[in-house]
Amino acid sequence: MTDFQLNLNINNNLSRKTKRCARCKQEKPLDEFYPHYNKYRHKYYRTSYCKECMKEYRRQQYLKHKRKRLEKAKEYVKDPEIKKEAI
Ligand SMILES: [Zn+2]
Repeated sequence: MTDFQLNLNINNNLSRKTKRCARCKQEKPLDEFYPHYNKYRHKYYRTSYCKECMKEYRRQQYLKHKRKRLEKAKEYVKDPEIKKEAI
């Protein structure tokens, strides 16, 4: 990064509000974070994960739940066989 780019970044940080993502630890503009409404405090907050990380996080959660569902489905299929063996 050149001095010029560095200065540009510092200026951008001063003029635009940024937030550090809790997941990728990158400083990003607030637009990069999803707003979410806190009904108890009647205020809008930004998620602690940036949009990119939220996407990845949701994908992982989906896969995790999907795997769990598959495992349960497998157990369900496995079960009658175990019973048969026991008989
Ligand atoms: Zn992030």
